[in-house]
Amino acid sequence: MAKSSKPAKKTYEFKAELNQLLNLIVHSLYTHPEIFLRELISNASDALNKVRFMQLTNQEIADSKADLKIKISVDSKKQLFTIEDSGIGMTEDELINNIGTVANSGTLKFLDEIQKSGKKPEGDLIGQFGVGFYSVFMVTDEVIIETRHANPDSRGYRWVSDGKGTFSIEEIDRKKRGTSISFRLKDEFKDFAEEYRVKSVIQKYSNFVDFPIEIGKEKINKVEALWRKPKDDIKEDELTEFYKFVANDFEAPLGHLHLSLEGTVNFKALLFVPQKAPLNLFYDLEDKGLHLYSNRIFIQDDAKNLLPEYLKFIRGVVDTEDLPLNVSREVTQHSPVMQKIRNILTTRILNMMEDWSKNDPGKYEKLMKNFGPLFKTGLNSDFTNRDKIMKLLRFESTAKPKGELVSLDDYISRMKKNQKEIYYITGDSREIIEKSPNLEYFRKNDYEVLLLTDPVDIFIIPSINEYEKKPLKSIEKADIDIKEDKKSKEGEEKESLGKETLESLIKVFKETLGDKVEDIKPSRRLVDSPVTLVVSKDGLDPQMERMMKLMNQEVADQKKILEINPAHPIIKNLSKRNIANSSDPVLRNTILQLYESAMLIEGNLRNPTEFVRRMHELLEEATK
Ligand code: ADP
Repeated sequence: MAKSSKPAKKTYEFKAELNQLLNLIVHSLYTHPEIFLRELISNASDALNKVRFMQLTNQEIADSKADLKIKISVDSKKQLFTIEDSGIGMTEDELINNIGTVANSGTLKFLDEIQKSGKKPEGDLIGQFGVGFYSVFMVTDEVIIETRHANPDSRGYRWVSDGKGTFSIEEIDRKKRGTSISFRLKDEFKDFAEEYRVKSVIQKYSNFVDFPIEIGKEKINKVEALWRKPKDDIKEDELTEFYKFVANDFEAPLGHLHLSLEGTVNFKALLFVPQKAPLNLFYDLEDKGLHLYSNRIFIQDDAKNLLPEYLKFIRGVVDTEDLPLNVSREVTQHSPVMQKIRNILTTRILNMMEDWSKNDPGKYEKLMKNFGPLFKTGLNSDFTNRDKIMKLLRFESTAKPKGELVSLDDYISRMKKNQKEIYYITGDSREIIEKSPNLEYFRKNDYEVLLLTDPVDIFIIPSINEYEKKPLKSIEKADIDIKEDKKSKEGEEKESLGKETLESLIKVFKETLGDKVEDIKPSRRLVDSPVTLVVSKDGLDPQMERMMKLMNQEVADQKKILEINPAHPIIKNLSKRNIANSSDPVLRNTILQLYESAMLIEGNLRNPTEFVRRMHELLEEATK
């Protein structure tokens, strides 16, 4: 009777986005089919953690005597695979909602990018994205989930789907708490029904799962709190393996830091710097954090408050005895213990970076190239450690070939005797910056200029103001302290325009350009170019202006100062024409042309038709 009164089987449809995701998983991630196993084990381990938490907080639990573990059984003849956990299980609603949606929007975006680019992702990238439960459809055509939630009054359910648009749910008799997932492997993946194959995958990805993983009677993972071992007892390959597990990475880490602290706060930590940055440094690290344990018991894998934003690239675990276990996430996050641990971790990580920068510069340079953009943002958020962060910054520079980085200290050590300022210029790439006319003077006179090409720089560097009492100055601004070089001045004096002729020419420039520019001045920074545009002392940095326009922000076009090079042949020719006839149309046209060329170089010339028309006029004149 009980059986016949059960509600009938119901069929549901997957959300549209999920169908898209499934399609992508099955067709794009084929290169690593074994990750389905990692995903299923990781879900089982999460479910077990949740039950352990219920136990610790003395809640009533169904099937309360069941051991906390994961069991895998395979039948190689029939190509069957089953993974079972005694975790928290799922209610009917959870089956519908959690198994039917894509929780991690980053994953969708990532997969979308793969699809657009039409390329298969590199193996080491896949590891960084949770493709989740659905990866199982890479290796099978139909999945059966049977589950019962840990609430004492819960019921059992069976979920069945071919992953092609719909799934069905029906109620079943199930005494056991937790979830079992079973399926028949596609022929080409039948080796996952071989014990040896399953074991090797587990040893690769899931060796440090906190609960025993059994095949038959045999436990195959380590279940070991590596961070609690004395430093000298940990082998290099254990570290690598552990890192791959916590960070979901395919590659070994770039380096690590092992801490064991006793004092006002007690904790142990095993921290890693990954070899590579994720595709989008700012976006993809958003919901990641360190794994937090309390006395060996896992609490959460995204303990964001343990690190400041700018150190979010660090992966690893923190284990402390000082946190009460049975409190909510919110309480944990705001506890003073967390705050103390965070301060200590921050200091230790910065010290480690300093140590690398001195003793292993190659490694440090890798770290900077990968994570520098994020790290730099610390300058604007962590004022306590600002000086340390500044010391750790690295930039490209005119003093070094492309790809080599220098520190502010390196720069200062090379400053010329009469030089009081640290010079920089910003732009999209080194190639573009190196062509800037504003660099000519510095190159000719051997002043080093930092070349800032990271988009983040523009938001960060102007806020530094000064380092070691040396002001940081953009060479694209009017107020830099340009020294006149005695030797070259004498040589060029004869060739340059005289004071009065120059003043008269500047007057014509002013009449012609009117309020297009803020001012016109003779330039000291130009060598080979006739003119350049610079920003007044309080003006917006040109790179910032470009970025704001790119982000569609309302930026009024700012007026700039046009500097002219009195020693340049074009300027000298113009001066001659000016003396002969100050209303010569070629004179006026050339002035407009020079101004618009400078705008063009900056990427700020809105309407090229006038520019081209005038150029044709001038060409006609020249070819007469
Ligand atoms: P993610 O694990 O990234 O959230 P998944 O697609 O792997 O994404 O899983 C979706 C959700 O389904 C999980 O968040 C969890 O709520 C539920 N789930 C999956 N497997 C299990 C399991 N073995 N036990 C309990 N819940 C599970």
